[in-house]
Amino acid sequence: MISKILIANRGEIAVRIIRAAKELGMKTVLVHSTVDKDSLATKMADKSICIGPPPALDSYLFYQNILSAAISVKADAIHPGYGFLAENPLFAEACKALRVVFIGPKSDVIRKMGDKAKAKSIMEKFGVPVVPGSNGIIDSHEKALSIVEEIGYPIIFKASAGGGGKGMRIVFNRSELENAYKFASSEAQQTFGDSSVYVEKYISGPKHIEIQILGDKYGNIVHLFERDCSIQRRHQKLLEEAPSPSIDNSTREQMGEIAVKAAKSVEYDSAGTIEFLYDIESKEFYFIEMNTRIQVEHPVSEMITGVDLIKYQIRIANGEKLDLKQENIQKNGHAIECRINAEDPLNDFSPCPGKITQLIVPGGPGIRVDSGVYPDCEIPPYYDSMVAKLIAWGSDRREAIERMKRALEEFHIDGLKTTISFHIDILKNKKFLTGLYTTDFIKDYFY
Ligand code: ADP
Ligand code: ADP
Ligand code: MG
Repeated sequence: MISKILIANRGEIAVRIIRAAKELGMKTVLVHSTVDKDSLATKMADKSICIGPPPALDSYLFYQNILSAAISVKADAIHPGYGFLAENPLFAEACKALRVVFIGPKSDVIRKMGDKAKAKSIMEKFGVPVVPGSNGIIDSHEKALSIVEEIGYPIIFKASAGGGGKGMRIVFNRSELENAYKFASSEAQQTFGDSSVYVEKYISGPKHIEIQILGDKYGNIVHLFERDCSIQRRHQKLLEEAPSPSIDNSTREQMGEIAVKAAKSVEYDSAGTIEFLYDIESKEFYFIEMNTRIQVEHPVSEMITGVDLIKYQIRIANGEKLDLKQENIQKNGHAIECRINAEDPLNDFSPCPGKITQLIVPGGPGIRVDSGVYPDCEIPPYYDSMVAKLIAWGSDRREAIERMKRALEEFHIDGLKTTISFHIDILKNKKFLTGLYTTDFIKDYFY
């Protein structure tokens, strides 16, 4: 039985996990780097332990130290959050070897799905529609050429070990192919330590629609509808909403069923997400990847279903049987999340770390703020630039949008540049209001 959880993460997600653990009556231990010693999460955890200097490789990714901390405090389980060690099969295996519960799926499932090219092949075998492209990784640009003969331009090279929008390169014609291949594989090597790339048809102007799933250790798997994450910059999400304003109920049902089938095919347990690209015109959707972890944007699904995903992750890891039945999961209203990043939207979203001199946090009906900051705290330059997530719920999309605008206007973060005003501009945009925006939205309307 889990009674003490170690949190191997930082920022808002560490705070979120501490909250869930406390509600379940569990003790919390937070590990942190030297620069995070005064973080909000350290103030909330029952205990905190410094595991190393600021660079993630020496702290949040240095799992020998994290495991030593877990053993020394007798933690029963480790929650990895997202990013860092969340999708590292070696870490999940090391936890198991030390009899510490890894709060996430089995290591072999993380391994299979973490290789994006392999994951596509597995999904295709189980009848899940995938984006056309190479069947697995390719080792030369000549191989890509033969695939182009079948699928035509444009294509996209993608890092098989990729994540966080990195390691992708779009190719519109033959003259760009060789360089793009070289660039993608060297970026993959640098960022992920693995140069493997694969080829996909580049779908122009798709929607990014993903299905949240939850599975237990006894083969029960449900989905919690979809999130529309098409507002992106550099292939990274900035604003997400649930449900998607641009899919109908029959498509919704179909995508949910396919996602559950995909998860069942790998005997998935814990929370996970199946990501698809969706063509608004043809209503076709194609699997792109599975994320075997909790996602940044999970709150929008929580707000429309009333299901606490982090508590379920913990309870499932604790061996509890899923008490949710698909037919009892209802969606209610509409939710939107804005990622509040310490970035300058007017300067290509470049990170703007620094000290928060004044902080006024919004509230009132339908507003939720998941954040890791407080007045006078420092945003260090070493990690992700996200400082808070603002989530608005409304009885319908219109109300959610109006609430979000109101809350963004209430939100004051002084001392650094943030994405707050950029979000207000998005919410006022006519295309956004139609709901029919695509992943090209920011490029088309703001640059
Ligand atoms: P990551 O692992 O970095 O999250 P994904 O494979 O999920 O990478 O892709 C991230 C985003 O990049 C997608 O949401 C989409 O906007 C864009 N993208 C990825 N593959 C394609 C494709 N084949 N065609 C068009 N856009 C794509
Ligand atoms: P989502 O928003 O769908 O949860 P993101 O792609 O935005 O997923 O990633 C969430 C966090 O995890 C970000 O901090 C991102 O930088 C990080 N991340 C995701 N995949 C990887 C990866 N393969 N390697 C390193 N960091 C990653
Ligand atoms: Mg993705």
